[in-house]
Amino acid sequence: MERKESEPTVGILALQGSVIEHESMLAKIGAKTLRVLKPEHLEEIDGIILPGGESTTLGKLLNLFSIAKPLKAKIERGMPVFGTCAGLILLAKEIEGEQPHLGTMDIKVRRNAYGRQIDSFIAHEVIEEFSTSPLELVFVRAPAIEKTFGKARVLKELDGRIIAARQENMLVTSFHPELTDDETVHRYFLSMFK
Ligand code: GLN
Repeated sequence: MERKESEPTVGILALQGSVIEHESMLAKIGAKTLRVLKPEHLEEIDGIILPGGESTTLGKLLNLFSIAKPLKAKIERGMPVFGTCAGLILLAKEIEGEQPHLGTMDIKVRRNAYGRQIDSFIAHEVIEEFSTSPLELVFVRAPAIEKTFGKARVLKELDGRIIAARQENMLVTSFHPELTDDETVHRYFLSMFK
């Protein structure tokens, strides 16, 4: 399929989770999107967002729909990917007490790191890699990155927990920028497309 260099198509994994919110955010900044539901859709995209949801379910559906293997291969070949929350868990090479899913990123994560009582909260913090103004950070039963190793780089720590990281073509946040009105992080992700 022929595509214009200047107009990347951003896939959004649409098996489960917060798909519409990412679509609206990308529409707001003029990016073309495609819902990824089948392996064939991977041929039509230049990058992909793995949304929040439930990582165990998402991991199972990725296999059931035969998307896991070709998606992993594309990410390993350099396709930009942005994992938010459960999407972050999908990318991790190590998950505390569980088997990894796509396992492409040099991070170790702990699911539901913020406990059940305070499992959702909002913080306001500057993440210099993205912007010099504070961003609204929405955490929903969020994971935390316990450590990075290899090529992964910490972008932000909050109260001793890593909440954003980058490794070459891979970006992850344990919070949900798509649940705010601020498109900064999505713009940053688009800047990762060559
Ligand atoms: N708690 C979910 C999980 O572990 C992630 C939550 C989210 O994506 N908002 O899969």
